[in-house]
Amino acid sequence: MQRLQDRVAVITGAGSGIGLATAQRFAQEGAKIVAVDLDEAAGSKVADEVGGLFVRADVANEDDVVRMYQTAFDTYGSVDVAFNNAGISPPEDDSILETGIEAWRRVQEVNLTSVYLCCKHVLPYMRRQGKGSIINTASFVAVLGSATSQISYTASKGGVLAMSRELGVQFAREGIRVNALCPGPVDTPLLRELFAKDPERAQRRLVHVPIGRFARAEEIAAAVAFLASDDSSFITASEFLVDGGISGA
Ligand code: NAD
Repeated sequence: MQRLQDRVAVITGAGSGIGLATAQRFAQEGAKIVAVDLDEAAGSKVADEVGGLFVRADVANEDDVVRMYQTAFDTYGSVDVAFNNAGISPPEDDSILETGIEAWRRVQEVNLTSVYLCCKHVLPYMRRQGKGSIINTASFVAVLGSATSQISYTASKGGVLAMSRELGVQFAREGIRVNALCPGPVDTPLLRELFAKDPERAQRRLVHVPIGRFARAEEIAAAVAFLASDDSSFITASEFLVDGGISGA
């Protein structure tokens, strides 16, 4: 199905995990992809694979964010979908009693300030077009909190969720939808890195997933494609949970 035929989609963190799977899915659905990542090798590989464009950018840097949308617009003539997805995992001991201010700030910069910058700089394009879909990657922890002590990460994702809700409401009448994607645990390098530091954490997490396993990145990408497409035309300002039942348990 070509639900995204000729839509221009800018995907941050496209070099790995959820971003990579979404670039592949969007391309299957007909979109033109602008793959953004800090990691040049991984980002250009996915851009080549999907016949898109690679822009190396640090999403926490405002000049980089401005440049990535400008490049997308100059190359393809519109920016229809922004998947603001790049993020980092919590620092080693992210309990409130242990996390230092520098680690806290870094997580807020990459996970939250980046989403503020991406929304701020993509909205003018979408307002001129009178349409657009913005999907910001939060997490189930933004809704439920986390039992595994990751205060800087949970707070950053809570901010992404609150910002998405507010923007969704503010721009609804302009044809721009803004949703917060809230995945449960997904088997990606980010999660594997976290569990490598603390193997017991994986078991503790798994117990809370009613479906009994972690998500595959492709399962999250399918939800993102839905939110990007007109199939979700009445969905905005939502916390879109794709969590294997965690929030219902
Ligand atoms: P991942 O580590 O596999 O991929 C993240 C990508 O983002 C990498 O390619 C990395 O190079 C890139 N990146 C990191 N910092 C960047 C920066 N400053 N500028 C540009 N690119 C940068 O991670 P993932 O699991 O696919 O996570 C993607 C998003 O989903 C993150 O926001 C994460 O917090 C969120 N999330 C993940 C899970 C999970 O269980 N994996 C669950 C809920 C939410």
